[in-house]
Amino acid sequence: MSIHLYKHDLPDGLDLGTSVAIDTETMGLNLRRDRLCLVQISSGDGQAHLVQIAAEMQPCPNLEALLADKGVEKLFHFARFDVAVINFYLGIEIENIFCTKIASKLVRTYTDAHGLKNLVQEFCNKSLDKRQGSSDWNKDINELSDKQLEYAANDVIYLHKIKLELEKMLIREKRIDIFNECLNFLDTRVELDQKGFKEDIFEH
Ligand code: MN
Repeated sequence: MSIHLYKHDLPDGLDLGTSVAIDTETMGLNLRRDRLCLVQISSGDGQAHLVQIAAEMQPCPNLEALLADKGVEKLFHFARFDVAVINFYLGIEIENIFCTKIASKLVRTYTDAHGLKNLVQEFCNKSLDKRQGSSDWNKDINELSDKQLEYAANDVIYLHKIKLELEKMLIREKRIDIFNECLNFLDTRVELDQKGFKEDIFEH
């Protein structure tokens, strides 16, 4: 694995292909209160590109162009959160999404464990240390620890492999159509979150 860390934006001329894994780190789970601090991206080649978002946000045209590119597939684990964060802080409506958490819930019916750690263990046979997840990401670029950078990179470098395996299972279980319908609903689910409807409104 190699990690590239950038301030404010992706560098000019970086070609990440047509399928990228994306994750974000924030100051917490409350969208308005807890700002976006880091966006991690990988093309699935073992390299992670980390863009630090400063408290005083600077323009990030390269990052925005990638996120807004409908021709690029974006892989997330729990897209519901990252899509809302990116929409709120960068004003981008993300399209062409694959969410490994939704896929996992639709096909890995033999378990209740749908965390990224569980998927990395099952499909990549690696044990992730998730402890840095709840660490302080609001730091200067040179203050982020090696452990934090490694944690942030780990959240994107396995997603292509996981997607490949889950997609096979979705086809095998004949749930690819309902998976796509769930993704079609994602925008609405994010909007419900943003309007304060956190619960499952279909529930009795
Ligand atoms: Mn993460």
